[in-house]
Amino acid sequence: MEDCLFCKIIAGEISSNKIYEDEQCYAFYDIDPQAPAHFLVVPKAHIGSADELTEENAGVVAHIFLVIRKLAKDLGLENGYRIVNNCGKDGGQTVGHLHFHVLGKRCLAWPPG
Ligand code: 5GP
Ligand code: ZN
Repeated sequence: MEDCLFCKIIAGEISSNKIYEDEQCYAFYDIDPQAPAHFLVVPKAHIGSADELTEENAGVVAHIFLVIRKLAKDLGLENGYRIVNNCGKDGGQTVGHLHFHVLGKRCLAWPPG
């Protein structure tokens, strides 16, 4: 996607603090962390949001959740963590490329605001 921030990060056109990548996904620290540990995991293929998932492209979501589990272990999130997906305007999504936030290393309130 031409004008997608996260596609540019994946391509290395915009720098990021990368944690992990494989053939399907890319993980990097959020530029504006909301917890002591806050990173994003995104599919390499451009998918606009969770609302654009289909039978054909949704397999990457299961893969991303397994990657998150591995990264949480590697990064010492043994007390737990939160996986967040903001979808669309009312969901608070600001970047139009599917991404999962992973937040940890502090006790997170519920319900969110
Ligand atoms: P959303 O609001 O769409 O759920 O999350 C987008 C996230 O991307 C925000 O937490 C924001 O801080 C992060 N973000 C926006 N621009 C950049 C950037 O250029 N680099 C990195 N690493 N994170 C970004
Ligand atoms: Zn994209």
